This record gives sequence, structure tokens and C-alpha cells, in this order.
Amino acid sequence: MKCRCGKRVTQLWPTSLCDTCWAEDYSKQWYGGKLWGFKHLFKALLLERNLFKKDDETKDEWYTRCKEKALTSKLLGGKIYAKKTKAT
Ligand SMILES: [Zn+2]
Repeated sequence: MKCRCGKRVTQLWPTSLCDTCWAEDYSKQWYGGKLWGFKHLFKALLLERNLFKKDDETKDEWYTRCKEKALTSKLLGGKIYAKKTKAT
């Protein structure tokens, strides 16, 4: 069975869709008192953390900026990583 986009159907409820189209239509989350579509919430959170790709930035520059943020993030274990790399 084919999805509307041509990919193979992997989701059957509430309608037959591929994973990507299902997420576009039905992946929702409450955040900050508002119901968000997954992609919109993801973008808003990246913008809030200054991690969304800037127009004048190459993908390599963006990846580097995100990596540096992750390596210094307590939440993402960056401090543990930093200690391990210092010791070697
Ligand atoms: Zn699809």
C-alpha cells in the first residue's frame, strides 16, 4: 500500500500513511499551554536556544556551532565529555 507521497505505508491509524506524513499530520505536543505540531515546536525550541541554522551560515558552520553547544551542555553530558578529553 502506498502513502499519498508515494512511500510505503507504515501507519494505519487514523489513516494509512508513511511515518513522515503521519508525523506531519498527527504528531502534536502540548508545550507552554499551546498545542504544537512537532516540527514547529522543534524549530521554536532551536530558535529559543540560538541553535537554528542562520541564513548566512554554512551547514558545516552550523554543525560546528551545535557540536560546541552540546559539548558544553550539562544536560547533554558535555562536561563529562570535556573531562574525558582533557585527561587524554
Ligand atoms: Zn507519505
